[in-house]
Amino acid sequence: MGRLISLSIFSVTFYMSMHVIKRVLIIGGGFAGLNAAKVLGRSGKVEVILIDRMNHHLFQPLLYQVATAGLNPSDIAVPIRSILSKYRNITVLHGNVNSVDLKNRKVHTNIGEYHYDYLILACGVQNSYFGHEEWMEHAPGLKNVVDAIAIRRQILAAFEKAERTNDPEIQKKFLTFVIVGGGPTGVELAGAIGEMSRFTLARDFRNIDPKLTRILLIEAESRILTSFSENHASRATRDLESLGVQVWTSSQVTRIDADGVEVGKERIQAATVLWAAGVKAMDLNKKLGVGLDTQGRVIVEPDLSLKEYRQVFVAGDQAHFSHQTGKPLPALAPVALQQGRCIARNILLEVARHQRQEFRYVDKGQMATIGRSKAVAEIRGLKIKGFLAWIIWIFVHIYYITGFNNRILVVVQWAMSYLSYRRGARLIY
Ligand SMILES: Cc1cc2nc3c(=O)[nH]c(=O)nc-3n(C[C@H](O)[C@H](O)[C@H](O)COP(=O)(O)OP(=O)(O)OC[C@H]3O[C@@H](n4cnc5c(N)ncnc54)[C@H](O)[C@@H]3O)c2cc1C
Repeated sequence: MGRLISLSIFSVTFYMSMHVIKRVLIIGGGFAGLNAAKVLGRSGKVEVILIDRMNHHLFQPLLYQVATAGLNPSDIAVPIRSILSKYRNITVLHGNVNSVDLKNRKVHTNIGEYHYDYLILACGVQNSYFGHEEWMEHAPGLKNVVDAIAIRRQILAAFEKAERTNDPEIQKKFLTFVIVGGGPTGVELAGAIGEMSRFTLARDFRNIDPKLTRILLIEAESRILTSFSENHASRATRDLESLGVQVWTSSQVTRIDADGVEVGKERIQAATVLWAAGVKAMDLNKKLGVGLDTQGRVIVEPDLSLKEYRQVFVAGDQAHFSHQTGKPLPALAPVALQQGRCIARNILLEVARHQRQEFRYVDKGQMATIGRSKAVAEIRGLKIKGFLAWIIWIFVHIYYITGFNNRILVVVQWAMSYLSYRRGARLIY
């Protein structure tokens, strides 16, 4: 009889342990977090809670288009809740994660405390001013929709203020735009401002000639687009110059204030200075008490988990993964997307079969656009530039943008602005 009871208790406990639904907590609904959630949502095998301090997923590669009045914020941002609404096992919460208690498997947020069986950290990065945090006030960076709207306001207001004055010095200051950082974001911003001043706004003002706008792209390295080939960097430089952008390489910004910038001993009076020079890890990383690299990113194992806490995974920009090439993978959307999916598959594999697989990044290449019909693209060894690269750039971005409606909206807006040179989202608010 006693044996029968213990056998039944064992069977019940075994059954429960086999059927207790595991809870996966995802922090961040960017490329990594969202794609992990989709895989877990489709499986229906685990409970998922996704927490993000924004209520929307943002397609950051097109943020510069919002900042330069080419697209509206809602064209590139979609509520996370609506993207994941079809998955009944996923709960989306709008909240900010303050800290993680790795030992007790708990996450502390401004909306409460959440327990997890598995944790996926996918919080991305923030702008870095290399120890000059005082520059942030005068040189906004481009990381989210709020930044993009503020930059758009600043750019459009600069033209308005230049129109209102007859003082040539003040006009010159308002019509000078400095972009610090010659990576893809800086190049895209500079190209878009160049195109805006040369074409879109060319006939809209009476007191100023927007074509006289001075745009400076300042890069500390010896060339722009350092992650691209030299040939592509020179082509991008020429394309930028054709839009009136002056490209200053090997130039270090030493001061930024309300009236402009200093590059070494040279002073440039400019009402608009934009920051595209660097990013750093989220402050949350320091509180984790695990291994970080020199940039503050969390060092992960080949399966993207933490060495000390195997049920905790880190993905995307927040992670330092160097097991494939010996160097950390670049902070790119495809890296984040693939890592998010890999983690989700590993969690499902472990729950079902106690197995995990290592992450392998499939490099899909990189691209940057310069104005409305020029781009450089490097795809699996193929180097493409000019109009063809721009067409590829368009298709890739349309393909990856989230939501069917957004794809249509973006195509229509681009087609309109391509045919008319207009930038439809020129609203100051
Ligand atoms: C302007 C710009 C242009 C870019 N262009 C390209 C490009 O052309 N091609 C390309 O491949 N890549 C590009 N990137 C890089 C690419 O966008 C990133 O690599 C990618 O977004 C990383 O994805 P992620 O999921 O790691 O982080 P993110 O997409 O940044 O998502 C992080 C999420 O975490 C949330 N979050 C952060 N902290 C907390 C917290 N404490 N609590 C709750 N939620 C939190 C954020 O709100 C956000 O939704 C660009 C980036 C920028 C900023």
